[in-house]
Amino acid sequence: MTAELDLICDGCRRPIADDDGYLWVDTAEVRRAEEAIRAWEEERTDAVDGSLSFSGDDIFGYPAKVRWQAHHALCDPAPGEGAYDIPAAKIRSWEQLLDWTAHLMEKSWLSHTDWDDILRGVHSGGSRLVVASQAGTPNS
Ligand SMILES: [Zn+2]
Repeated sequence: MTAELDLICDGCRRPIADDDGYLWVDTAEVRRAEEAIRAWEEERTDAVDGSLSFSGDDIFGYPAKVRWQAHHALCDPAPGEGAYDIPAAKIRSWEQLLDWTAHLMEKSWLSHTDWDDILRGVHSGGSRLVVASQAGTPNS
């Protein structure tokens, strides 16, 4: 099968062949983001009526989304850390990308990650997942 999508390594910036790497998110970081968001909301929730109110400035203090990272196993800065990972071989086609997106949407933590940027980036020149021809490197 010709690959339609290429994962690009955050470390060396080269495409990741099927068995050489993965797209991953740090699960400990996701938990920290969940807790930070809960705390952020608690601070701004009215103790009496439970309504959430915040100013425009508060938005800047909103906990950052956890970034999905792409790495060759050899370039991974933290191999073996608790991670949710998607092997490069399993995210090679549009169909697979759709299936992963549907699967991930069942996870309560997905919105705390930048999966939306992954999706947007495929066409708008993102850095992690790109249309295969844009990588400019033939599959080996
Ligand atoms: Zn690499």
